[in-house]
Amino acid sequence: MKKLIAGNWKMNGSVEMTQGLLAAINGEINGDLLDKCEFLVFPPALYVADALKSAGTNIDVGVQDCSLHESGAYTGEISVSMIADMDASHVLLGHSERRQYHHETDEQVCAKAKLAYDNKLVAVICIGETKGQRESGKAFEVVERQLMASVPESASAANTVIAYEPVWAIGTGKTASATDVAEMHSFIRNKLAERFSDSKNFYILYGGSMKPENAEELLATPHVNGGLIGGASLKAEQFLAIAKAAP
Ligand code: PEP
Repeated sequence: MKKLIAGNWKMNGSVEMTQGLLAAINGEINGDLLDKCEFLVFPPALYVADALKSAGTNIDVGVQDCSLHESGAYTGEISVSMIADMDASHVLLGHSERRQYHHETDEQVCAKAKLAYDNKLVAVICIGETKGQRESGKAFEVVERQLMASVPESASAANTVIAYEPVWAIGTGKTASATDVAEMHSFIRNKLAERFSDSKNFYILYGGSMKPENAEELLATPHVNGGLIGGASLKAEQFLAIAKAAP
């Protein structure tokens, strides 16, 4: 299984940055790197068209969220069919920033994932505990609950990627220890096995302050099939250095 190196640009960038960053990444993706990694980026929706033009064939492009509705009077929203129409391939769902700032629930994430499947998109579903939940010993309970409620029964390894992102590690410079990541990823794999016959093939990404300095250890951790990278995905050299660190 190759490592999936995914960049979440969040609300950063411009047309110029989109073109420049993807051209720089593209220029460095050679045979060796492609043998061990796959690449995916989530630019802001407005730059997806530019991203698709600059991404070439080796970088997939996704959208950071989608509407719960298929079409209609929902000002400002973007539907899954529009995302598919653009030829984007993935949609990022349930990111902790959406759960926190937009009060998204597991049930909404699950409904969005089903819409994504209906439109042949791959859903990258984010789960992860807060600092308080980890400190009170609830990390596994929370992750299990999110996994059960956010991931539809119709999920499969072909249409779903799980991203484990401990909320306290996102954008903070703090990373979960390799031991904690190993424990949680193997827990997630086991929970997937209770529901899905192809559980072994699900990509489970780690996200939370992944950077060139810690990527080698994290990407070599059992059941870590790649990374969801925020800050470090905005600089081509850092994003590429993370990919190069993959075993
Ligand atoms: C993220 O936004 O999904 C993320 C992991 O961010 P960062 O790498 O900046 O912690």
